[in-house]
Amino acid sequence: MRPQILFPLFAPSANLKGVGPRTAPLLEKLAGPLVRDVLFLGPQNLVHRPVVAANQARDGEIATLHVTIDAHLPPQRSNQPYRIRTFDGTAFLTLIWFKVQGDHLLRSHPVGAKRAVSGKVDHFGSELQMAHPDYLLPIERAGEIPTREAVYPATAGLPPRTVRKLALEALERAADLPEWQDPAFLARESFPGWREALARRHAPASDADLSPLAPHQRRLAYDELFAHQLAMAQRKAQRRSQPAEPIPASDLATRIEKHLPFALTGAQVRSLAEIRGDLQSGERMSRLLQGDVGAGKTVVAMLAMADAAAAGFQSALMAPTEILARQHFETIAAPLEAQGVRAVLLTGRDKGAVRADKLMALAGAEAMIAVGTHALFQDEVRFRRLALAVVDEQHRFGVSERQRLQEKGPATHLLAMSATPIPRTLELTVYGDLDVSRLDEKPPGRQPVATRAAPKGRMGEIVARLKQAVTTGAQAFWICPLVSESELSDLAAAEARAEDLRKHIGPSVGLVHGRLPPAEKDAVMAEFADGELKVLVATTVVEVGVNVPNATIMVIEHADRFGLAQLHQLRGRVGRGARESSCVLLYDPPLSKTAEARLDILRRTDDGFLIAEKDLELRGGGDPLGLKQSGFPAYRLADPVAHRDLIAIAADDARLVLARDPDLASPRGQAIRVLQALFDWRPGSGGVTEAG
Ligand code: ADP
Ligand code: MG
Repeated sequence: MRPQILFPLFAPSANLKGVGPRTAPLLEKLAGPLVRDVLFLGPQNLVHRPVVAANQARDGEIATLHVTIDAHLPPQRSNQPYRIRTFDGTAFLTLIWFKVQGDHLLRSHPVGAKRAVSGKVDHFGSELQMAHPDYLLPIERAGEIPTREAVYPATAGLPPRTVRKLALEALERAADLPEWQDPAFLARESFPGWREALARRHAPASDADLSPLAPHQRRLAYDELFAHQLAMAQRKAQRRSQPAEPIPASDLATRIEKHLPFALTGAQVRSLAEIRGDLQSGERMSRLLQGDVGAGKTVVAMLAMADAAAAGFQSALMAPTEILARQHFETIAAPLEAQGVRAVLLTGRDKGAVRADKLMALAGAEAMIAVGTHALFQDEVRFRRLALAVVDEQHRFGVSERQRLQEKGPATHLLAMSATPIPRTLELTVYGDLDVSRLDEKPPGRQPVATRAAPKGRMGEIVARLKQAVTTGAQAFWICPLVSESELSDLAAAEARAEDLRKHIGPSVGLVHGRLPPAEKDAVMAEFADGELKVLVATTVVEVGVNVPNATIMVIEHADRFGLAQLHQLRGRVGRGARESSCVLLYDPPLSKTAEARLDILRRTDDGFLIAEKDLELRGGGDPLGLKQSGFPAYRLADPVAHRDLIAIAADDARLVLARDPDLASPRGQAIRVLQALFDWRPGSGGVTEAG
């Protein structure tokens, strides 16, 4: 239930004064449907409007002048502007409007009237002009023109000044709410109260007030981070409280492990132990197995599934694409089957009797493990005793898809897997509702991928070397990024590249891209995996987990346009076999300083977590970490980078609050409920797992 004190903020934003049927949808698009959403907007910069004399005004300057109306000069022809000549005792200033109808300007501003006028001034020849003044007021009201004006985000039809007015009105409707933060913490950080922080956000006095590091901005950011961490902590606690079948470690898994052609890495052993701790606990597991490409996540998942099978329970492993599902199946089917555990592969391609047979095996629990794509959570797929759901590349699935898979069992344990390296500092905002195991150690014997950057002028040389490598049996990926606004023209570029490489290298050059129907895409990938194709030209659809050990060369065009995390993942497609691998990062010179620093990091390390952390430090605009694709929450007041020091504090605080006051019944708990209602983090609006 929403506390009454918040009702004014949860009124439709269309109710704000001055919002009409035309502007309401614009405001909703810009801010959101509620008064609260308008309240959470913030100015982006500050315009100074000094009062100047006309003979002192500089070109391009925004200024306020105190003038007397000297003459009206209406247009002589329809394409001419309406002009008013004014004088301030030092020089003339001509005010200009285009498309003026009627005589309202003449009536409102008669000759001889004294006016305060503000806007951008420019010299046109010797004449000082101001087109479409921002303010034109009787001189008695000159005080209404701010000397510093906060500029808000705007949209066509809704100018910054209107948005500012609406934001200030929204502020007026915000009551002073009970303090939900710990007073000692507020004092230590010099944070103002919530209402005061908002008031300052909307009335910045200097550029420093606009900085995310200003105490009032940090206060508001902290509130948002804290509300989010609390929501995730509650979700986690709620899930824990649901009983699930305890699954003990098994001899079966030990036997499978013994027969593997390699020993588990220390990180695999540790992660498996953490997973087993959860599985045995009798509470539902929600764990993320985080590990760079090639770190060996599948084997860990397989051993957990073997434990489940030994205890008489079924498992499902879901992958985002058919080729990945097939690779998982090929990895795990034989070791499991050797110990008498049947696994089936279920994809959209299975039809008729084959499909019916697999479905029956799952329904009757003759098959203990299902590996598949989205096909797994269709209604006809029934399990007899599903107890463990493993989701690979978890961010590629929606919350509801994971949920549908989990719902096929009564209280299914969840093991999510991800190869997207999130810097530790940000991990809590993405995975705060999961326990995390990290595979931070690669299997031994992997050769580092020799990485170098080259300007695109050296393309000819690179193609020649590629040709030579291919004749000696090597395979290569060639990545063409999506660069332009138009997917079609990018596609054309990739097609042209494939064509060009075919001319030099021959017909064994394939092409995959996002527009290809899934079956065709899989077919081309399979030909590459089988070695029929030597070079695979691809847009970024090269699936994160795809395993082609014979591929040793990676060429990435326009590497400067990729985020580091993405480059790292792409590079991870090679260097999986025993042979030495290389990666060429082609760029369009000149390279900016930041781009150079980023490519340099890639050349120096192949530790995904370190790369992500460094990238965060160098972060410019945009989304170079690919956070959006990783289920990153959309904060409005917090900037996960600028405010990253607050994230862990918020998480600790949330845990502490829930430990002391799980029902939020204390006075602070009550106030926190108001905070939660204010931010309204719903299940699925952040974090990885669903409620329940
Ligand atoms: P990920 O899914 O983490 O990218 P995979 O599970 O596909 O990685 O493993 C990559 C390759 O490494 C597979 O061929 C797998 O058999 C192999 N592998 C896994 N663990 C080890 C290990 N401890 N030692 C050697 N090779 C391993
Ligand atoms: Mg994998």
